[in-house]
Formats: sequence, structure tokens, C-alpha cells
Amino acid sequence: MSETRAGKTITVIEGDDAAPEVVQPTVELIDRMNLPITWEYPLVGEAAKAETGKAFPDASRTMIDEADTTLFGSSSGSSGTALFYLRWGKKTFANVRPCLHFPGCSSPLVNPDGINFVIVRENLEDLYVGVEGQLADLAPLNLVGRTIRKPVHELGEGRFAIKAITREGSERVIRFAFELARTRGGRKLVTSTQKHNMLRGTDGYFLEIAREIATEYPDIDFETFIVDDFACRMIIQPQHFDVIVMPNLYGDILSDSAAGLVGSLGLAASGCYGEDYAYFEPAHGTAPDIAGKGIINPTATLMSARMMLEYLDFGEAAERLQEAVAKVYADGKYLTPDQGGRASTREFCTAVSACLGI
Ligand code: ATP
Repeated sequence: MSETRAGKTITVIEGDDAAPEVVQPTVELIDRMNLPITWEYPLVGEAAKAETGKAFPDASRTMIDEADTTLFGSSSGSSGTALFYLRWGKKTFANVRPCLHFPGCSSPLVNPDGINFVIVRENLEDLYVGVEGQLADLAPLNLVGRTIRKPVHELGEGRFAIKAITREGSERVIRFAFELARTRGGRKLVTSTQKHNMLRGTDGYFLEIAREIATEYPDIDFETFIVDDFACRMIIQPQHFDVIVMPNLYGDILSDSAAGLVGSLGLAASGCYGEDYAYFEPAHGTAPDIAGKGIINPTATLMSARMMLEYLDFGEAAERLQEAVAKVYADGKYLTPDQGGRASTREFCTAVSACLGI
């Protein structure tokens, strides 16, 4: 069954180490779903350097700009330049990382049934603005720490990093989380988490903005926890949560931890959304330790592609893909080693294809 939507163009960056081993079968599988999609492969990384002298040539940037979206395999090398562009260049401020338990997954929890929440990680700010330096350089500012009660440069030789939380950056990601809670059909609950007791100026500001925005959404419940308390609750009672919004660093750490709740980093999908662009990538890295073995779990990439199909308005195909992946887990015959199985990446994907009848 094909959907009759206008044709879409997707740029694909296969990534490094084991990443192409999951991106290629994902593209092949979606291609067989018979949707009006054109795939394009911009030259990035070492291949681009060899051909053009640049890791991210202008032509590749134009290809990304003109496409409807990008599917990105994890990157460890020079293809990372393209990732910087997709994130900071395209201002994809909301990093959406679902944590969904498929019955049949090897979760370490006694009762993982019904885990279905989404972490919305602010994607552009916080400690990731990339300003670090020598403490001595702060001497002219004479910044007195609230806790240490002396100028911070007097602590001795050392370094600092800037944590930047802006009103605009916080508002847009928090609003995104509330809108997501509205459309998701979940518990209609937004949880914000941050370290507002210690970092009153920055995380306290994030929480203040979250509380303000919560008043605009009377149909959505709102709650907040200090991030260390939240981490504990996420493990003890993950089924409680629906949409959780947080600054960048906490989101980076907690979304990988959340993947552990359902059984593997290999299950963790992600999509990064901006005002007018989105790209999709598995939350895991390039898994260099298993590169070339053909055993990397493709679920994270398939589920990222599922998010991508939804973004492109191929909602029915997105649902079918998720159902097919769920069936493969329920069946349990073709699971990859991280899930306690012995299937290869390709065998898993063939099983998904069979469930899709393609
Ligand atoms: P990054 O810093 O880019 O997130 P990393 O080196 O911290 O990367 P990963 O590349 O994600 O981490 O790998 C961490 C561990 O998880 C490795 O042992 C890797 O093999 C495993 N892993 C990651 N993704 C998968 C996957 N899709 N299937 C199976 N194992 C995976």
C-alpha cells in the first residue's frame, strides 16, 4: 500500500565505524515501502576531503538545505562537521528521544511493561555552547562564587566552562514539549528537570520559564523534579512519565540512561527539530568496537526513520514500521546480540521486512 503524498527528498549521511551497517539496510527497507522518496547522498568527511579538499563542501550543504530532511548515521570523524551544521546551522533546538519498551526486549527491569516516555533535550545551549577557558582569565571580572565565597580565579590553576540558558532557547524547547504532550496521546504530562536548587541563576531560570509556559497549557499537567531526584524516579517508576524536558547536558546523559531501562543503546531513536528543519539520527554513537561484524542493532536507526516518516507526513507508513519492529521483538527469533539473540543486523531487518510484507 503506498501513500499519496507529494514526493520528498531525504539526504543520507551514513556516518562512521558501524553506523553505515544500520543506515544502509534502513534506507533499503524504507525504499521498499514504496513511498515517493528520493534519496540523496551529500559528500562529507574523508571522501569529501579527498575529492574537494573540504570535509563539508558547499554543494553538500546546499543539498541538505534543499532536502526535506536528513537521516544521519552516527559520526566519529570528519563527517561530524555536517552534524554541527545540522544542529547549530539549522537551529534544531529540540532533541526528541523516545524511550519505548517493546515486549521481548531484554530490559534489566523486572517490570518494563508500558514504558513509553519521551525526553526532549534542549539541543543548542547549556554547557554545549563551547566556551571554556583558564580560570586565571576570569581575574579581571572578579567573579565571587555564591558557595565558595571568594573570586573563582583564586581557586588556583584550573579551567571553566560557560553554561548558557537563554529565555528564547528555553521557551521554544519547553513549548515544544507541551505541544508534543498534546499530540502524543499519552498521559498529557510534562515534567521538567534541572538542578535548580544549586544552579539558581541558570537552571532556576529554566524552571521559571517552564512554570510560565505551563500556564498556557491548562490541558497538560506539569511537574518538576531536581535532576538527581528525577534520575532515581526514572529508574524506579519509568511508567509514570510522558514528556520530560531538560537542559542539554542532563538530556544527553539521561537519554542514554533511559535507553538502558529498555535494554540497549541500540534501541534509542532520536529526532532533532527546529522551526523549519529536522534531522534524524540514532542516539547511540558509532559503536566502533563492533564495526564490521554485522551485528549492530538497527532498531535505533529504524525507529529514528519511523520519526522521520512521521515528520514527512507518511504517518501510516511510520505506524506500520513501528508495528513491524515490535513484532520482531515479540517473536524473539531474530534479535541481535545486544538483545541476547544471535541474529545479524541484516537478519533483523529481513524479519522486519517480512512483517511489513515487502
Ligand atoms: P558517542 O560518544 O558518540 O555517543 P560512545 O563511544 O560513547 O559514542 P557508542 O558508540 O554509542 O558510545 O557505544 C557504546 C557501547 O554501546 C559500545 O559497546 C557499542 O558497541 C554499544 N552500542 C552502541 N550502539 C549500539 C547498537 N546500535 N547496537 C548494539 N550495540 C551498540
